Amino acid sequence: MSGIGTKCVQAGYKPKNGEPRQIPIIESTTFKYDTGAAMGALFDLEAPGYFYSRLQNPTCDMVAAKIAALEGGTAGMLTSSGQAASLLAVFNLCSAGDHVVACSAIYGGTYNLLAVTMKRMGIATTFVSPDCTEDELDAAFRPETKLVFGESIANPALAVLDFEKFSSAAHRHGVPLIVDNTFPTPINCQPFAWGADIVTHSTTKYMDGHGSAVGGAIVDSGKFDWMAHADKYPGLCTPDESYHGITYAEKFGQGGAFITKATAQLMRDLGVTPSPFSVYLLNLGLESLHVRMKRHCSNALAVAKFLSEDSRVAWVNYPGLPSSKEYAKAQKYMPDGTCGVVSFGVKGGRAAAGAFMEKLRLVAIETHVADARSCCLHPATTTHRQMNDEELLAAGVSADLVRLSCGLEDPEDLISDVDQALGK
Ligand SMILES: *Cc1c(COP(=O)(O)O)cnc(C)c1O
Repeated sequence: MSGIGTKCVQAGYKPKNGEPRQIPIIESTTFKYDTGAAMGALFDLEAPGYFYSRLQNPTCDMVAAKIAALEGGTAGMLTSSGQAASLLAVFNLCSAGDHVVACSAIYGGTYNLLAVTMKRMGIATTFVSPDCTEDELDAAFRPETKLVFGESIANPALAVLDFEKFSSAAHRHGVPLIVDNTFPTPINCQPFAWGADIVTHSTTKYMDGHGSAVGGAIVDSGKFDWMAHADKYPGLCTPDESYHGITYAEKFGQGGAFITKATAQLMRDLGVTPSPFSVYLLNLGLESLHVRMKRHCSNALAVAKFLSEDSRVAWVNYPGLPSSKEYAKAQKYMPDGTCGVVSFGVKGGRAAAGAFMEKLRLVAIETHVADARSCCLHPATTTHRQMNDEELLAAGVSADLVRLSCGLEDPEDLISDVDQALGK
């Protein structure tokens, strides 16, 4: 199977003679065996198979295999949310006393996870500017640094990750680069081709694409040689006493160790499991991901062009717009398109942005992005409403900023809605 569109439609499940054409929803917590010995072999990870859906479920595995195929990885797993995917991906490599280097242009939830919650678990993070120099990036590393984290297109800053700068720094310091590829999706960006080692997703966004099910995914490229850095990654390279003394990197190799450990150990203990029914909905979204992403991007570009030529608009930021400072990186790392999200400022600041949003008819006010239905958010009066204008600027969000997620409607209708809402 070669083309990415074909993978969107068919990867992960090949029905045999007389089996259902669509993936079956296996809503079963547990699985039946004839002997205790047969089930024991599963517990020892000696034989493949299912015993309890907190760890693995056939429906979820089919869709994980599809997402792994889309990213060009060796193994994948699904989680109950994008937040859970970030948590597992980081915690699979870090313990108390360890350290993370993260790009500061990342999703607010991931920032909080690293800066607040993982800090309470004893895992420290140094945040570096997306525009930092190589020397500044090198200076962020410590002996106990275990990974570098970045986002291919940052939500909501819309900064495009300098993959080469961040991956070469990670590899110079002997650690993997983890990239959250939620916004461009594997249709528009292939992080493994640019040096990323692990990819995470909030499947809640474009992959589902219909605002139906919260979910997440992790994919391993199989390219990071854990055993070559065995002193840094004892969790992967020495026996897991909580799992029958298995050494993951030995038993499952470079391509399987990361996901097997995250499943057998972290999913077992943390239980951030998706439901097979939610995963079925996710798969319906994936079947049209390649078709939808094109339309999200062409709609966003049309809206961004309209806004950039309009005198009622103070500024526009869209990485697909040639005037954007992100454009060169976007052309290099995602030449076929970026995402459907545009941010811009309405002349007149906070009050004008609020008035604009209330006049929209087609575009709905929501905290969501990346939905078939266009939606928008004014951070200054919603998610960031406790901050004054100075505090907002420090957080990289100006008081006039509107984040507009362009859906799949006709571009003429979106532009005319935005036009009438901007007023006279
Ligand atoms: C939404 C989002 C997340 C968090 O995902 P949830 O599914 O909401 O838990 C992580 N990263 C990015 C880039 C996101 O947009």
